Formats: sequence, C-alpha cells, structure tokens
Amino acid sequence: MPCLVMKFGGTSVADLDRMERVAQRIGGAVADGHEVIAIVSARAGKTDELADLVVRTSPFYDAREYDAVTSAGENVTSGLVALMLQKKGIPARSWLGWQVPVETTDAHSAARISGIGTSNIRSRFNSGMKAAVVAGFQGVSPENRVTTLGRGGSDTTAVAFAIAFEAVRCDIYTDVDGIYTADPRIVGGARRLERISYEEMLELASLGAKVLQTRSVELAMQHRMPIRVLSSFGNEAGPTSGTIVCDEGEIMERNVVNGIACSRDEAKLTIVSVADRPGIAAAVFGSLAEAGVNVDMIVQNISEEGRTDITFSCPTDQADFAEKALAGVKESGDVNYRALVTDRDVAKVSVVGIGMRSYAGVAGRMFAALAAEGVNIKVIATSEIKISVLVDRKYMELAVRSLHDAFDLETGT
Ligand code: ADP
Ligand code: ASP
Ligand code: MG
Repeated sequence: MPCLVMKFGGTSVADLDRMERVAQRIGGAVADGHEVIAIVSARAGKTDELADLVVRTSPFYDAREYDAVTSAGENVTSGLVALMLQKKGIPARSWLGWQVPVETTDAHSAARISGIGTSNIRSRFNSGMKAAVVAGFQGVSPENRVTTLGRGGSDTTAVAFAIAFEAVRCDIYTDVDGIYTADPRIVGGARRLERISYEEMLELASLGAKVLQTRSVELAMQHRMPIRVLSSFGNEAGPTSGTIVCDEGEIMERNVVNGIACSRDEAKLTIVSVADRPGIAAAVFGSLAEAGVNVDMIVQNISEEGRTDITFSCPTDQADFAEKALAGVKESGDVNYRALVTDRDVAKVSVVGIGMRSYAGVAGRMFAALAAEGVNIKVIATSEIKISVLVDRKYMELAVRSLHDAFDLETGT
C-alpha cells in the first residue's frame, strides 16, 4: 500500500474541532487506500508557553530539561488525534519520538535526526493499523534522553518519515494555502507560487520564512523528496492546490527575485576595539559556538592602530548567552576588548532568487528601494542567490513591502 505522510502544524490542531477536521482528512487519505503517517505539532502557542515556563524557571537552562518540557505539547495532540481516528473506526495508534524510535544527535533543543527505525510502525501497518499519528518535533538521543529538533521541527520530522517510509509525497498542512512571494501576513499582495526550487526555499526558510523549517528543506533536497505545502482549512486538496517544493529543473517560471523573507528577532552585537591579530576571531567565535550561539552575519571593520571592531548578529533570545560567553573570554584574558554594545531591536530582511546568479543590479535596486523609504541599512550580507540587510525592527514590515513592490513580485513580471 502506498504510504502518505501528512503533517499538521499548530494552528491545524489548535483545538478539538480542528483536530476533528484533521482526523477527517487522515480518514479521507486512508479511504483512498493509503497507509498514513500523520505528524502532528503541539497546539498553537503551546510550545511557546512551555518554553516560557523553562526560561522563567531558569534563564540559563539545561537544554536536556528544556527538551523534556517543550516536547510535551506534541504528546497531547498525537494521543488525541489517534483517539479521534479510533472513534471513526480507523485503526490508529499514537507514537512518541522514542517509541518509533526517532534517533537524533544529543544537541538538545536543536538535535538532528540520525535515523528512523521503521520496523515498529511497519509491523503495525502489516497487522492492520491504517494511521500512525506521530508526535513531531521530538526524538531520542544516544543517551536515551528526549530531544527536540528546534522550533518548527515537526516539518523535519515529516520529511524524515517520508524518506524513511518511501512515501509517495510529504504534504505539509498549515494555516496558509502555500508558499508566497513574501509572508502573506505582512504583504497583502503577496502571490502564491505554484512551485519553488529547493534552493530558494532553503534560503527563504533559513532567512526567516518560517513556513518550513530549514532542515526539512535541506533533507528533502538531499533525497529529492517533493514537499507540498497546503492549507488545512481549505475544502479540497486538489492537484494544483498549494505549492510544490521541487528541483529547479521542474520549474518553468523564471524571475530574478522570487521571494522576500524577514526575521524579526535578531540582535546585533559589536565588540568595540579589540586587537587586530591572528587568533582573535577564532577565540571570539569559538566561545560563541561553545555557548551554542548561532552566529549569522559577521562584519569586521578596518583596523586603526592595530585595533578593530567586530559586529555580528544572532537570534535575540541568544543575545544573553552571547554576552555571557564574551564576558568569559574577556575575563580569561584571551580577548581584550573595550566594550560590548548589544542592539536587541533589529530585524533581517532578505531578497532571494536563483536568477541573481546570472543577473546584476539586484543589490542596487534593493538599496534604492530601502533608501526611498528612509530605511537605514545596518549590516549587509550576500550569497549567490540572496542579499540580506539588518534594519531597525520598527522598519521591518515597511522594508518587506517596499522590496516586494520594487521587484514587482505581486505580478511576477
Ligand atoms: P505551522 O504551525 O503549520 O507549522 P507556521 O506558523 O510554522 O505554521 O508557518 C506558517 C506561517 O508561515 C504562515 O502563517 C505565514 O505567516 C508564515 N510565512 C512566512 N513566510 C511565508 C511565505 N513566504 N509563504 C507562506 N507563509 C509564510
Ligand atoms: N511545536 C514545535 C514548535 O512550535 C514544533 C512545530 O510545531 O513544528 O516549534
Ligand atoms: Mg511550522
């Protein structure tokens, strides 16, 4: 029997009524002759609430306990959805990460899936189970502790299951009906894309378009697993609904820029007046890596009299960890700097498109659009298919909308 993976995000399972609709959808896929693996998230807002309890209890928390707490939201939804399926007479069972097992690394709160044991679920399918309802986001470490895959991690659970069970497709049901040229909550005129390449989606996701977790796209790209993103609130999931994430070669439409992404919660830290000599950057960024800080953009100024400034960005909720790590290297005498200046009110705005590889002038057009709105650019970073800038957070929406206009994304010309 063909296996179908269906993932339902937080708003899709927000309450019992919505879970009932999810159960109906799963029931429909079973009736169509599929063995269904349904991956469910926690109810909307639940993971935030649990993470907040952890931070309020212990600001520099032990990540193992963070995982023990934050993984709990998915336990509830997987059990409830399984019960609803059973009530409909569909043989269904819930599975927590460790029961599958979803084996992961021990990088707590940002673990990576290292393997999925398929034999337990397969043998249940062979003895009549029609739907496995799997708690997304969670796994088990080599030390046998519960791990989580980072925020949005249920997307990655879904793709990993689709690969492991050789599913016909991985359908991601969410609260929008596909992937748009920008977050449709910010840009009213954003346009739904019928298809988007893995590479562009990977950039958009890593630059803040949280519709898919970055790792899920990376995994799908490696294994050429098509992902379909579609609404869990629409009536019918027809063949042209939603957006397919697929190989570049399968896409006819060619635009220079295909999407605008933004990330609200960024912090910018500047290490002021540090010695400009070999080993300093290694000591600074080594200590940040040890503290688990995800450093993003990095800029080093030209040096004056042998001293320089180093600026970098990281997620706002890691700024305290970064400050602590940098105070540590200063105290140990490894890096002597004059001051550390933290700006917690910045956001990152990026334009993405594979067409940029062969088309010049995108940066100029982008900076001109921001200048026309009086938005000051604080840091710039580029890669082959994206340009990102840091701006004051209060200008983020304005910047996204003006770039969407500047690149004519509403009409796609
Ligand atoms: P789920 O709970 O289903 O996992 P998420 O909240 O993680 O859903 O992701 C869906 C959200 O992603 C949408 O509500 C939308 O606001 C946001 N989003 C950001 N960028 C985009 C984009 N380019 N296209 C579609 N949605 C986007
Ligand atoms: N519940 C987790 C989160 O909110 C995982 C997910 O929904 O994808 O991040
Ligand atoms: Mg999500």
